[in-house]
Amino acid sequence: MTAEIINGKEIAAKKRLEIAEEVQKLKSEGVTPGLSVILVGNNDASKTYVKSKQKTCEELGMYSLLITMPEEVSEVELLAKIEELNADPSIHGILVQLPLPKHIDETRVIESISPLKDVDGFHPINIGRMMTGQNAFLPCTPYGILVLLEETGVQLEGKHVVVVGRSNIVGKPVGQLLLNKNATVTYCHSKTKDLSVHTRQADILIAAVGIPNFIKADHVKEGAVVIDVGINRNEAGKLCGDVAFDEVSEKAGYITPVPKGVGPMTITMLMYNTLKSASESIGGF
Ligand code: NAD
Repeated sequence: MTAEIINGKEIAAKKRLEIAEEVQKLKSEGVTPGLSVILVGNNDASKTYVKSKQKTCEELGMYSLLITMPEEVSEVELLAKIEELNADPSIHGILVQLPLPKHIDETRVIESISPLKDVDGFHPINIGRMMTGQNAFLPCTPYGILVLLEETGVQLEGKHVVVVGRSNIVGKPVGQLLLNKNATVTYCHSKTKDLSVHTRQADILIAAVGIPNFIKADHVKEGAVVIDVGINRNEAGKLCGDVAFDEVSEKAGYITPVPKGVGPMTITMLMYNTLKSASESIGGF
């Protein structure tokens, strides 16, 4: 079997068009969705991510406010800036680009963002609301994976999903979102024994490990849907995922490539969450 490629770039482009249309509708009602991104320090990868978020924001007709702070900024100053943005009616989404310098407590910072503007979906209130199936900002990468699966027409109910990785930003929430859709979910992680015994049972296998080409054909059941969240560099410095694409795509039914798979969906769902927040500020969709 040769897998069908799930084209994240195309699906993201379609979603972005829909978001841009909704942005225009909101603007005609006098509300421009506004996203503020706070960048602390000089991390090159963070700068690239922030730039791309700003660019997408502007392309979709939203207001984008970048706040840069020096590496040595105090936690108190950062918290004061977040407080100011929490109270600013032109800002509907606040995102603090992670990682933060070591002297700043990330948890305290995340918890200082108003849950109503937490468009990353990292605040414990949004995580709790997601777990209990209430209206919430869903974390962007897991939400993007859900949309990719739905847009591809993959049935989730009753399917066995195996998630490899249990980070708070990807592994844990993606399993929870698919559980909410009535899938049966197994989590695997660095202490799991006999990994392939579990992964070979997956109808849908999600790799969020951060190790280049970690998932091989032997880990995969014939015809499975394989979602590769990894963004890594291989020995030659080339971008690659957590899945050995060439061998796994010979066995899987569907597969996401890296790049142009999950990646473009993450920013798209950030834009969606900002739109949702702006819309909810005047009563909701
Ligand atoms: P993380 O380092 O926080 O978590 C990695 C997880 O992998 C851990 O839970 C760990 O238990 C598990 N793991 C490590 N070694 C393992 C092993 N040998 N067997 C089984 N499990 C093992 O990483 P993360 O933040 O969840 O990110 C994972 C990958 O996804 C990274 O490559 C990251 O760059 C990428 N990522 C991509 C996007 C996107 O938008 N596409 C967003 C976030 C993260």
